[in-house]
Amino acid sequence: MSAYRDKDPRIHGIQSKIRVVPNFPKPGIMFQDITTLLLDPKAFKDTVDLFVERYKGKNISVVTGIEARGFIFGTPIALEIGAKFVPLRKPNKLPGKVISEEYELEYGRDCLEMHLGAVEPGERALVVDDLIATGGTLCAAMKLLERAGAEVVECACVIELPDLKGRERLNGKPLYVLLESY
Ligand code: AMP
Repeated sequence: MSAYRDKDPRIHGIQSKIRVVPNFPKPGIMFQDITTLLLDPKAFKDTVDLFVERYKGKNISVVTGIEARGFIFGTPIALEIGAKFVPLRKPNKLPGKVISEEYELEYGRDCLEMHLGAVEPGERALVVDDLIATGGTLCAAMKLLERAGAEVVECACVIELPDLKGRERLNGKPLYVLLESY
């Protein structure tokens, strides 16, 4: 954890609102449930504010959120920093022409899609999700953005599961997380 995050008194409040559910949705998974964080307006706002404070004024023109929990944090961040929001969705949800990337999950396999033309070449992009586990989801998101010609400035998550070493899969791309869970 960085000194900034260690010192910020809001982090403890955020962490205390995340419910950990053992063996969901499969045996052996410690599910980090952010719906309990959303029930607390102060902790939810603190979460969004911490990201906004980091990314405001950084010339980011697009925030991409990963379905579904990345939408919850990504949209308020986009509005606050004055960027557009682009949803990265599960297959067959977007009605227009898409580009797709398959990836491995901590529990299963999945695919992300993005509308063609939603991101212009040269745009500076932020990728937002609730959590990084193995890093497969963020890798797929970054590949979609890079295929569209965007520059990924950073990936931002509320929670990191460091034991799963997802950070190492990001090919040196910066990752910012508010808290770690073991
Ligand atoms: P990964 O691709 O392995 O980094 O997995 C990250 C994605 O899967 C995120 O969109 C998370 O919402 C979800 N996810 C994976 N593991 C967990 C977990 N233990 N608790 C909650 N969400 C998880």
